[in-house]
Amino acid sequence: MEVLIIGGGASGMMASIAAASMGASVTIYEHNDILGKKLRTTGNGRCNLGNMNLKDEFYYSPDRDMLSDFFIQFDEDDTIRTFRSLGLIIKDENGYMYPACEQAKVVADVLETQLRSYGVNVCTSVDIDDIKKNDDNSFTVATDGRNFKFDKVVLACGSYAGIAKKDRISSDKDGYALAYSFGHTIMPVKPALTAIKCDNDFLDRISGVRADALITLVKNGTTVAGEYGQLQMTDYGVSGIPAFQLSHYVGADKEGGYELLIDFMPGVDDDDYIAMMQSRIFAFQGYTIEQFFLGTLNTKLCDLIIDLAGLNRTDMVDEETQDDLITALGIVRCLKLNVTGVKDFSFAQVCSGGVPLNEIDRNCMSVKTPGLYICGEMLDVDGMCGGYNLQWAWTSGYIAGRAAGCY
Ligand SMILES: Cc1cc2nc3c(=O)[nH]c(=O)nc-3n(C[C@H](O)[C@H](O)[C@H](O)COP(=O)(O)OP(=O)(O)OC[C@H]3O[C@@H](n4cnc5c(N)ncnc54)[C@H](O)[C@@H]3O)c2cc1C
Repeated sequence: MEVLIIGGGASGMMASIAAASMGASVTIYEHNDILGKKLRTTGNGRCNLGNMNLKDEFYYSPDRDMLSDFFIQFDEDDTIRTFRSLGLIIKDENGYMYPACEQAKVVADVLETQLRSYGVNVCTSVDIDDIKKNDDNSFTVATDGRNFKFDKVVLACGSYAGIAKKDRISSDKDGYALAYSFGHTIMPVKPALTAIKCDNDFLDRISGVRADALITLVKNGTTVAGEYGQLQMTDYGVSGIPAFQLSHYVGADKEGGYELLIDFMPGVDDDDYIAMMQSRIFAFQGYTIEQFFLGTLNTKLCDLIIDLAGLNRTDMVDEETQDDLITALGIVRCLKLNVTGVKDFSFAQVCSGGVPLNEIDRNCMSVKTPGLYICGEMLDVDGMCGGYNLQWAWTSGYIAGRAAGCY
């Protein structure tokens, strides 16, 4: 059995190991000059390779109900077992799995060591010119002016996320184009797990501020979703994990019209907040407004909130300023940002969209072209932050490789 894996990233490397372990003769064609280029940069260089709390609900997909069919075959315990068998020591940080050495490159290296020990033929800096299915059910792949024949082909080409436009494979030859040429639908591909852009003119004043916050995404007055965590304010909007988690909704919705409400005192209930602030107003009588805010939030935020409430820093906390002070304290709990979109693909960690799950079977085989398998981010599944996207790459890569490697 000759199996070709197109794409030597996270899912492709896992697929090659699974196919080779079934006794297949495996070749990887990788566009980059090394395997696992993106994998080597994940998790800020530490690689959050999975999560102990794996649930379908941490994924977005129009066919989310199909996910359990895949995770039942390869779940978080299989991820741990597989990487342990490759010699990788994994540590658990509140459910988030990392290599104990804290080096993403080592995750790629242990996969590469294993696939090479299986004799997988690794061809890097390769681009595919054409693939055709033959009458005898084999595939002919044209690359570099030459034709090669394979029994099965696995598409593991990933997405546009994290890749600068100039470094992308042209859109008529990338993984989506290859899948499309075999009759697959490509659901619109959008950046997900990325920063959210807003157009408020005060953003440059608070750029660089990091704060624990609860952010709530609202559309036409209705709450869409909320996230808590460390937010990073930027001159174009908001970044950080809570913004990433909500970016899926904004990126996937052409209509727009979203607002982001930021609560900089999360976890304090309204009554406690009012009581806390009333006693602060009482304690700071005779002090300036600036002194009242000093020590509450980042000073850049305090300055902005004072201005938005129409207060002067040098005014005194007294009866005259009390109403504006209450307005300012309200802004601390609900700073409104006008959302204009999300940052582009190069900034994103994953993409939404791709080949719908209902166009593959539970072995990740194409229902349009038997013998063709699709795995990883090319499929219309994107996970939340926390190791869920790599888990999907391991799960779908393993299933596709194992099935493609079977006679
Ligand atoms: C900065 C960053 C940090 C991230 N951190 C995390 C994290 O900590 N945890 C987590 O779970 N997820 C993380 N992700 C997401 C995760 O990396 C991806 O979901 C995962 O790598 C997807 O695996 P894949 O195999 O589908 O695609 P990739 O890993 O992108 O691999 C696809 C490969 O196919 C190759 N290829 C594409 N087209 C062709 C072609 N036509 N011919 C030949 N080769 C081709 C590409 O060059 C690439 O090497 C992060 C992503 C980014 C960008």
